[in-house]
Amino acid sequence: TAPAAQPGPRPVRAPRGTQLTARGWQQEAALRMLQNNLDPEVAEHPDKLVVYGGTGKAARDWRSFDAMVRTLRDLKQDETMLVQSGRPVGVMTTHEWAPRVLIANSNLVGDWANWEEFRRLEALGLTMYGQMTAGSWIYIGTQGILQGTYETFAAVANKRFGGTLAGTITLTAGLGGMGGAQPLAVTMNDGVVICVDCDPRAIDRRIEHRYLDVKADSLEHALDLATKARDARKPLSIGLLGNAADLLPRMLAMGAPIDIVTDQTSAHDPLAYLPSGVDFADMARLARDEPADFTLRARESMARHVEAMVGFMDAGAEVFDYGNSIRGEAQLAGYSRAFAFPGFVPAYIRPLFCEGRGPFRWAALSGDPKDIAATDRAILELFPENESLARWMKMAGERVHFQGLPARICWLGYGERDKAGERFNDMVASGELSAPVVIGRDHLDCGSVASPYRETEAMLDGSDAIADWPLLNAMVNVASGASWVSIHHGGGVGMGRSIHAGQVTVADGTALAGEKIRRVLTNDPGMGVIRHVDAGYDRADEVAAERAVRVPMREG
Ligand code: NAD
Repeated sequence: TAPAAQPGPRPVRAPRGTQLTARGWQQEAALRMLQNNLDPEVAEHPDKLVVYGGTGKAARDWRSFDAMVRTLRDLKQDETMLVQSGRPVGVMTTHEWAPRVLIANSNLVGDWANWEEFRRLEALGLTMYGQMTAGSWIYIGTQGILQGTYETFAAVANKRFGGTLAGTITLTAGLGGMGGAQPLAVTMNDGVVICVDCDPRAIDRRIEHRYLDVKADSLEHALDLATKARDARKPLSIGLLGNAADLLPRMLAMGAPIDIVTDQTSAHDPLAYLPSGVDFADMARLARDEPADFTLRARESMARHVEAMVGFMDAGAEVFDYGNSIRGEAQLAGYSRAFAFPGFVPAYIRPLFCEGRGPFRWAALSGDPKDIAATDRAILELFPENESLARWMKMAGERVHFQGLPARICWLGYGERDKAGERFNDMVASGELSAPVVIGRDHLDCGSVASPYRETEAMLDGSDAIADWPLLNAMVNVASGASWVSIHHGGGVGMGRSIHAGQVTVADGTALAGEKIRRVLTNDPGMGVIRHVDAGYDRADEVAAERAVRVPMREG
């Protein structure tokens, strides 16, 4: 008999509404969020199971995807499905407080934790790259990063430009799944931004989703549009087609009037960064056929790109690394000043991490945008004193285009996330929301990641590379009742450079869900507070004291 045909790509979309397709809402939620990650509105390359961030995938292959869907539909309330790098490898009897899914993605033993070995194993079909929220099924499209990017540019405005980006020009590159948030985040802060990308589809897609305003015909056209808008103090985002490794040095040489420079090309993965001199049309083929040569050329180009960023810094611009490891790659290519500018976390975000603040997000399993509108109102009622939160929620409600299941994100801290989660659960119970919601977060959070080029860069006590924290984070989320928990390696900044964990908890309106939510959404951000207390941050100490977070070494 002929072998069964391998299942192949097909359009995937999560079911909507209150009809269960699994045995309970915890399983249904995992199933819908896995499918939602691959919805063509959400995923960058759904046919390849790639959700975002270079090659961040939701499932290893289509057979694994089918097996996960099948298993989740039938999974009982006291069972747990185990996922090893995008493939379901077991179902175990656990208990109702246990997660319904446990996920480990892309993990490699230290000495083997590099792209070369990862690619070898990936080619053998043994692993996949999970990024952060791709393989842990809580990616909500570009909005997810929009809020964090908005916060970062707001912090830049506060630090250097009197609280607004009006009258400034930002230069950046990368309009992919995450980088695509940059134009809207800058215009939300009233600034002008030029965004370079070598893929015309990325530019068109951001315009279609209303994250990007216009497309320039040439570099000169982009600069003309930018300076006119800047002088009129009008927000404007401009897409510019080209290679950042060529365009940034050119713009520096011509003395372009740039105030802020950053980058979100997929520099964490040298096979996803277009080297100078390579046509975009040939990129995929060359990366596949000549990976070693491609890597070398990409790194050399990144060195030129970073050198231009340093040049802008020397000329007085505010320059920061946006968490894509481009400084590390430029250094590997031999550029000695690669780390002359800081990463965005030590520059702007760490004080928020000390308060357990981070990217709290939720999605409406009903598929009904009205459910998100109701949760938006609930957040504003719960935290009336927080002005920047209110500003964000208002703009998000007006300007964010939903991709896939309607979802919302806002940064909340220790003592806030549990309140929001419990309110959502009550709203499901009372029927104010038409179906359950899932509550999760990015792995880029206050206490869930070890990433010395990003979240844990320049820790006060030098503990940047200590990776016990994300493992403790995952364990405490399992112990507290999360619906699914994941441990990944290499997200954001690439192989060998990060270990991080995530959790998602379902608010299905039951008393049990309420109990779980209270614990998970207290303990999860609590990890951020204790991690920063341990590293010696005064602000974290104050927060721990004010909000009764127990730290044994501070007691007795
Ligand atoms: P993506 O793969 O979806 O998009 C990358 C984009 O860069 C693509 O559109 C590609 O065409 C473009 N590009 C590649 N090489 C280029 C070049 N030489 N010149 C111009 N454009 C080029 O990736 P993404 O999800 O948008 O993520 C981008 C990077 O940002 C990743 O490294 C990711 O890890 C990092 N990231 C950082 C944060 C953060 O903490 N700030 C959050 C998420 C992602």
